Amino acid sequence: MSDFSMALNEDQLSIQKWVHDFAENVIRPAAHEWDEREETPWPIIQEAAKNGLYSFDFIANCYADKTGLMLALVNEEMSWGDAGIALAIFGSTLAVAGIFANGTPEQIGEWVPRCFGTVEDPKLAAFAVTEPDAGSDVSSLRTHASYDEASDTWTLDGTKTWITNGGIADIHVVVATVDPALGSRGQASFVIPGGTPGLSMGQKFKKMGIRASHTAEVILQDVKVPGQMLLGGKDRLDERLARAREGKRSSSQAAMATFEASRPMVGAQAVGIARAAYEYSLQYAKERKQFGKPIVENQAIAFKLADMAMRIEASRLLVWRAAWMAANRVPFVMGEGSMSKAYAGETAVWVTEQAIQILGGYGYVREYPVERWHRDSKIYTIFEGTSEIQRLIVARAISGAHIR
Ligand SMILES: Cc1cc2nc3c(=O)[nH]c(=O)nc-3n(C[C@H](O)[C@H](O)[C@H](O)COP(=O)(O)OP(=O)(O)OC[C@H]3O[C@@H](n4cnc5c(N)ncnc54)[C@H](O)[C@@H]3O)c2cc1C
Repeated sequence: MSDFSMALNEDQLSIQKWVHDFAENVIRPAAHEWDEREETPWPIIQEAAKNGLYSFDFIANCYADKTGLMLALVNEEMSWGDAGIALAIFGSTLAVAGIFANGTPEQIGEWVPRCFGTVEDPKLAAFAVTEPDAGSDVSSLRTHASYDEASDTWTLDGTKTWITNGGIADIHVVVATVDPALGSRGQASFVIPGGTPGLSMGQKFKKMGIRASHTAEVILQDVKVPGQMLLGGKDRLDERLARAREGKRSSSQAAMATFEASRPMVGAQAVGIARAAYEYSLQYAKERKQFGKPIVENQAIAFKLADMAMRIEASRLLVWRAAWMAANRVPFVMGEGSMSKAYAGETAVWVTEQAIQILGGYGYVREYPVERWHRDSKIYTIFEGTSEIQRLIVARAISGAHIR
């Protein structure tokens, strides 16, 4: 008997069902309303907090799953319910991942629970890297952090853009440059707690999809935080900068460490959207009759559904493998995290478009959810590294060549 198994264990199955029920009964019925309102769905976030689904304990439990699959299962189910609301609830986990990836155990203990707030008063967190002139090119950040040794204070200045929960979060994890000459190796992450003077929200963006998730600019003007807000601490930063200046390799770069760990989870969200559209259009194709028979009896429609199913299953396997590798610290030698995110993201865009085609005119109107799923899916080829950047990572990993 082989040790290898693709079967989920009892814990995973019961959490999957619990989250699915929440997605089906709470998230999905609210999806259309919050997409139209384009606002943060606070009542749903409160419901998730009351339920124990939006909480430090729950996420810590997911991270504790040694297979790495628990968080992937949760992300898929939540996004199956609605990707915009799912991101409004779980957008905070990117900041949490940033703290986990770069913080000391004390910092993790202090700041991660604050990203969630309490059951009575849930809070959100934001992870701010992107800037108007630094999107894919994370090495060219201009937001600057300077240190004053006498007062043990960091001062941050700059503008961040496209930030999920930007300006409405209680905790902003901000990636800034401390030595621009070193590119991404001269960057560090800082925790900026709510109410810190100088941090404000700029423009809030009106988006094509995931409209229940808040996206805005974050302005940092003479923001002063004590030395302890530097994730990882000053000694570790100084050591890292010294290695970079000597041209030696360093194991972690502030933003990259976070994105590497979170990409399979973003892929899992894309799988959730794709599955929602696939299930809906499969059911529709069985019920909708034209020329006296269900449209699913036309090979043209049935083959579309077969292709949709195949690509979704392949996406999920890539996501699960990358999640397992990340949880077990198996190095991504082929860019497996990027592969999973790019493939699942593009699958979601493709599957939701096929779903529109299967529904015909009904797929194109807002009374049906399929057009929303297509709008929601598109962000998965853009954020947390575009599909082109994921291909760059995979191509470099498999070839060893310096591909631009
Ligand atoms: C809704 C939303 C939420 C977001 N949330 C966050 C968040 O919470 N935190 C955060 O920090 N950021 C966030 N982002 C930012 C997101 O990660 C960036 O938009 C993304 O990384 C791309 O950057 P850009 O938009 O500046 O595009 P650009 O980098 O300008 O890219 C434009 C095009 O050029 C291509 N391109 C660029 N360089 C190369 C290259 N070397 N080779 C081939 N093609 C290339 C890209 O693939 C893309 O097609 C969010 C964005 C959106 C839209």
